[in-house]
Amino acid sequence: MNSWIADRTASFDSSGIRKVFDLAAKMKNPINLSIGLPDFDVPDEIKQACVDAIYSGKNAYSQTQGIAPLRERLSQEIAAAYPGSSRDLLITSGTSGGLVLAMLAMVNPGDEVIFFDPYFVMYPALVKLAGGVPVAIDTYPDFRMSADRVAAAITPRTKMILVNSPANPSGITASESDLRAIAKLAADKGIALVSDEIYSRFQYDEPFVSPALFNEQTIVIDGFSKSHAMTGWRVGYVHGPAEVVAAMTKLQQFTFVCAPQPAQWAALRAMDVDLSHHINAYREKRDMIVDGLRGRYELTTPGGAFYAFPKAPAHYNSATAFVEQAIANELLIIPGKIFSAHDTHFRISYAASNETLQRGLEVLQTLADN
Ligand code: PMP
Repeated sequence: MNSWIADRTASFDSSGIRKVFDLAAKMKNPINLSIGLPDFDVPDEIKQACVDAIYSGKNAYSQTQGIAPLRERLSQEIAAAYPGSSRDLLITSGTSGGLVLAMLAMVNPGDEVIFFDPYFVMYPALVKLAGGVPVAIDTYPDFRMSADRVAAAITPRTKMILVNSPANPSGITASESDLRAIAKLAADKGIALVSDEIYSRFQYDEPFVSPALFNEQTIVIDGFSKSHAMTGWRVGYVHGPAEVVAAMTKLQQFTFVCAPQPAQWAALRAMDVDLSHHINAYREKRDMIVDGLRGRYELTTPGGAFYAFPKAPAHYNSATAFVEQAIANELLIIPGKIFSAHDTHFRISYAASNETLQRGLEVLQTLADN
């Protein structure tokens, strides 16, 4: 029998990250700093809103574009953040759903999509799924998202620039001037600019800035997964130019259909929940990691998300070899090559209890000193 599996599934590989999660499942008391989601539970009032929605019969499909009250609320916030700019809105099945639809709506076979290395694992996979060509720009060692680096990668086939600040896996935040320059470059060249802003609320040193402030054609993708710990509830949203949002809405109608309706009502409630204590706790955890690694690891201070991306000590041959040693000491972290062409750095997720972080830091300190 010939294989039934389509060629597109062979264009990317998910085995690396699965290996780490399989290992985690086997360990008795792992120090788990590998998980890319908040360590707090969904706030109670959001859970209650979901339960209320379910028991009051809000269980059917919603309109493709999302329930009206959530759309109205988000539209008000978007209008206030981008005054004078006309932006259409679509509620999606998570930020991932928004990314999938953005690629399918804009990328033709052979089109190039520029993003920064290290990158979120889905980016090259989704570009290839749409038939596009991923163009990852090396940003080592400072991980700066500079417009010069983008300009040097632009070709006649460039269709899209994808930015992600604060970034997964580095936690790096782009400066306002870099974002302004990238936004202007995209506008000048007529290239689509997509901004993945899922970590926008987790920015610790400076206020969050979106490139959409400098280029009103920017397609912004955001969601409730990280901000409100709702990763399993699948609610995200996209706002941007009417033509793009209309194409994405049409594609959603024949794929995801809609975001889960009860979770959309919960997301509406989530918009009134104060997150500042969680954000402050993560800022403190960020500081704890930076302090704990100082003098032993090369680390560009992360300004956002809940990740740090230090360099493995030189006496290990690769970050993979280093991570194997860490795992042998019960510490779960992710080798950088899963997110990168380089196998030199590793990702720490500090969305964990301070006690777990302390245990993890002790292992990292010992591994550096040995
Ligand atoms: N973008 C980035 C940069 C992410 O890190 C993640 C989640 N790890 C997503 C998108 C997807 O999030 P969601 O749960 O909203 O699909």
